[in-house]
Formats: sequence, structure tokens, C-alpha cells
Amino acid sequence: MLRTTTKQEVREQVKAWKAEGLSIGLVPTMGYLHEGHGSLIARARKENDRVIVSDFVNPIQFGPKEDLATYPRDFEADCKLCEELGADLIFHPEPEEMYAENFHSYVGVNVLSENLCGKSRPIHFNGVCTVVTKLFMLSQADRAYFGQKDAQQLAIVRRMARDLDYNIEIVGCPIIREEDGLAKSSRNTYLSAEERKAAVVLHRALTLGEQLVRSGEKDAAKVVAAITKEIEAEPLARIDYVELVDWNELQPQSVVPDQVLVAVAVYIGKTRLIDNFIVE
Ligand code: AMP
Repeated sequence: MLRTTTKQEVREQVKAWKAEGLSIGLVPTMGYLHEGHGSLIARARKENDRVIVSDFVNPIQFGPKEDLATYPRDFEADCKLCEELGADLIFHPEPEEMYAENFHSYVGVNVLSENLCGKSRPIHFNGVCTVVTKLFMLSQADRAYFGQKDAQQLAIVRRMARDLDYNIEIVGCPIIREEDGLAKSSRNTYLSAEERKAAVVLHRALTLGEQLVRSGEKDAAKVVAAITKEIEAEPLARIDYVELVDWNELQPQSVVPDQVLVAVAVYIGKTRLIDNFIVE
């Protein structure tokens, strides 16, 4: 597996692969890899001749009060997992390599970024779209892999690729969970033992909500209220949002639509966790 920190080396490798007619799968990550990331890499491995993993904590998607400085990192462990899963290249640039001085160009998607995480993280999705665009350009990938764990991100990246003719297939992958149901996340490492136990409330509450939707409940307020009540019963939890939106435009609904995304963001202590379910 090739490790590189430079865009030039990625370009050269991609050019050589393309000259051989090989297909390329890209898995964008912020590192500190776990089985959630692993599932994306394994899927990319199956569906492409070559697999590129990017491992980059993207500063422009973090707000001023967010956890950029403390975001967990372990590049050696990341390389080990990528090797084991058969990735061909890991791209691990410094911020200066990605963002030259006087960087002023951003990509964004309107409407889909208005609700959910977009409300409390106003610059987040422009940062995501911008870095993802750069990674698409560099990797010339045929397919890129994103987790449903970040459902709004998946929807936004998919729309961006369609709207702006990126000619790349966006592949959505299911949420990988711990045994007790907590969605795997690099940020779970912030949780104390007590908080870790409390954190399972996100999945517990969403499971209740999903049962309601699947049993035919059409009143969106009732679904949101049931989830909210369950989370509020956990003393260590503080809700950022519980939202029910259509899984197309990500707009709030009063009647549960046929394709629905129900998503939550909850602080457990100081750690903000997200989770969701989609019924299509
Ligand atoms: P991150 O490193 O957190 O930016 O995540 C990189 C990619 O891995 C994103 O597409 C995430 O949605 C995906 N991902 C993170 N956690 C999980 C998980 N538990 N299950 C599936 N995909 C995940």
C-alpha cells in the first residue's frame, strides 16, 4: 500500500492506473478508523480495481467552537487497517497541502443543508462539499463510498455529484454499530464509562421511533415526541435536535412521507453524537 502526503503523488498514481484502464474507488475519512470506515473500504475493495482511502481531518468543516484541535488521530493504526482490508493508497495530507494561502473557493448545496446538522453547524457542509470535490478531482474515482451514519452528508454529496455532473457514483453504506446498538464513531472515544453507557439512548430512542413509523404512524409530531421523551429520560443526554424530514429534500414534514429520514443529534456530556434511521 502506498502512503502519501502529496497531491502530486496521488495524481501520478491515478494517471498510471487510468492508463491501464483500472477502476478506482475512493473512501473519504477523517481517520481514527473503526469498523464503520472498514465496511466502506471492504465494499470499495469488492467493487473496484484500486482503492484510495483519504485520511484527513478537514479544518474547514469545523466551526470555531468545535473539536478540531482534539479530534482523535492514530495514523499508524489507520494504515494497518487499510493494509488489512486491501486498500492500495492512503492519502494523508497536511492542511497546507489541501488549502493554499488565500484559498477562497468553496462548493455548497442549498436546501439540503438547511435543516438537521446544518442548523447548528452552519459552515459544516460547505467544508465537506469543498474537500470532497477536491478529493474527487484528485482521485478521478469511479465510485465514492459514504456511510448512512452521516445521512445528511450522504444526501448532500449525492446531490452535489448529480447537480454538478461529477460523473462519479456515490455509494451509501449501512450504519455499523457496537453490540449494544451505539453507532460506531471516532468521537465515541471522548465518552467516559458512564457516558458510554448513557449513549445507547440514541439507538434505543430511534428504534422506538422506527417501530412507530413501520407500524404505520403517520403523525410526524408523535414520532418525534416519542423519541424526544425517551432521550429526555436519560440524565446525561441533552438534545440538539430530533427531526423528521423527507429523504429527498430533507425538509421537515407533518405527515410521515413514504421516504423518511429521522435523525438526532444529542450531547452526552460534552460529546455531540448523531444517529438516524431511514425508511424507504
Ligand atoms: P468520518 O471519518 O467520521 O468523517 O467518516 C468517514 C466516512 O465513514 C463517512 O462516510 C461516514 O459516514 C462513515 N462512517 C462513520 N461511522 C460509520 C459507521 N458507524 N457506519 C458506517 N459508516 C460510518
